[in-house]
Amino acid sequence: MKRLVQRVIFLALSLGLVGLFSGCGENEAPARNPALEQAASPLTLVTNARIYTFDAGGTLIENGALAFDGSGKITAIGDSGPMLSQFPGARRVDFGGKTILPGLIDAHGHLYGLALSFTRANLTGTRDKDEVLARLRDFARDLPAGEWLLGRGWDQNDWPEQVFPDRADLDEAFPDRPVWLRRIDGHAAWANSLAIAEADRDFSGGWQPEGGFVHRDGRGEPTGIFIDRAMDFIEPFVPATSPALIESSMDLATQTLLSLGLTGVHDPGVDRNVIRLYQKKITAGALPVRVYAMADGMNETTEWLCVNGPLNDPSGRLVMRSVKLYADGALGSRGAALLEHYSDDPGNRGLMFVSAGEMESALRRVFGCGLQAGVHAIGDAANRQVLDAYQKILPDFPDNPGRHRVEHAQILGPDDLARFAALDVIAAMQPTHATSDMYWAGERLGEDRLDGAYAWQSLLGSGARLAFGSDFPVEEVNPMLGIHAAVSRQDLEGWPSGGWLPEQRLTRAEAVRAFTLDAAYAGFMEHEVGSLETGKRADFIVLDRDVMEIPAAEIPEVRVIETWVDGERVYVR
Ligand SMILES: [Zn+2]
Repeated sequence: MKRLVQRVIFLALSLGLVGLFSGCGENEAPARNPALEQAASPLTLVTNARIYTFDAGGTLIENGALAFDGSGKITAIGDSGPMLSQFPGARRVDFGGKTILPGLIDAHGHLYGLALSFTRANLTGTRDKDEVLARLRDFARDLPAGEWLLGRGWDQNDWPEQVFPDRADLDEAFPDRPVWLRRIDGHAAWANSLAIAEADRDFSGGWQPEGGFVHRDGRGEPTGIFIDRAMDFIEPFVPATSPALIESSMDLATQTLLSLGLTGVHDPGVDRNVIRLYQKKITAGALPVRVYAMADGMNETTEWLCVNGPLNDPSGRLVMRSVKLYADGALGSRGAALLEHYSDDPGNRGLMFVSAGEMESALRRVFGCGLQAGVHAIGDAANRQVLDAYQKILPDFPDNPGRHRVEHAQILGPDDLARFAALDVIAAMQPTHATSDMYWAGERLGEDRLDGAYAWQSLLGSGARLAFGSDFPVEEVNPMLGIHAAVSRQDLEGWPSGGWLPEQRLTRAEAVRAFTLDAAYAGFMEHEVGSLETGKRADFIVLDRDVMEIPAAEIPEVRVIETWVDGERVYVR
């Protein structure tokens, strides 16, 4: 455990997150008397910056200034010259012509999952099984004997053989401890024999669970690959991570977000324990980002939210009024539910998690409690099921505040695309999913279905609203990678030239808007954050170059110099 904590600290240092261990702790101390503090703290005037406000007019203030008071609210915004004479007594911060944007918001990022990921072996980006085993051996070196070895992030599509691994690969290296490794998309896991034995379940015979799949060999024995609901046979036996390690990992996770320019995140599928952790961090003055939590619709958290009503912490750092549901799995593991079979797997249409009736009754419960729904739907069949349910039952809930969402909305049937705008449903999408999947999505889907795949520009053109995110830790946290993917539809090597399905590219402004104002809208926060305007919170980031002007290929190189939340500098590079 100690070694794990050290590992987290080492990771923090190697990421350059020095703010975690110096300076910024003072900023995070809870204010004992906010009214007094406000009166005592001077106005702050940020000057000499290229300010992209992302207000309705898309204003750029070339030599801009931003004033905010002790409560962290913006009191004025305009040209530096006049603002300097208007506020002679203000505390000044001169940014020397650097670029300022509103703080970015990831509308689908698993903050708690990111914290957990820092407690597990990271297998993301492994190029073959040998590299997986090497990283696992390294991670396991300090684990106590017999303790579970947990990891996540592997993707067989990145390996030369491109087939699922099996338990024999792990048994040889780890004969005396259970090993449980989540795939990159979280929709499959790879177990060794000891982990399978923990399941306390007879896997013999040809049976399969509903909504899941146990891969079996020629003798009917599980190979070690468990898809979607089949993971539930083993997951409950994975021992819990220690609270102390989770708490320190959470600090590392929030500092990671700030270092990359994220001041807000929508955390989908959390339960009450996670909410308690966020509340504990707020009390300690240690939640430096805004969390819009979406309750896990699969457990009692939704019931609790129904009974107690939406959660809106007075700190402005935690809101929960939304419920995350699931319609299907993911494309990479062929768990996404398609209307027609997979082009590269005839007979397989993926996995629909629930029947239409079950989806409707789950949504009725959510709507009846006045909550927002966000339903995970990747395949065209799953998206249609969700849209059908919204269309059918939304009229029965005229008092529900609306803004319902589809999480991912990756593959849409041609008739379903325009229904997002028609039903006022937000497409909560992740641009880097397109650039991660583009190498094999065509094989899975065939050419025809690609018209509705990751169709950002078609959705925008139809009048739908996009809320962008990354789905971290499935993808990398850095929102600059999302902006780059959105405007280029290319990978970091510039492949394919001209972009994959290039008609779906977005402009720079469209992409950033989906990471700011429209992400805020998806969380009912557009009057508080998402643009830099008088009366809004001073959540902003300072960049080392102008992300709106530089060549697209340079966007991934943009570095965040400072991050401010509620008018407080919470990260300095
Ligand atoms: Zn997700």
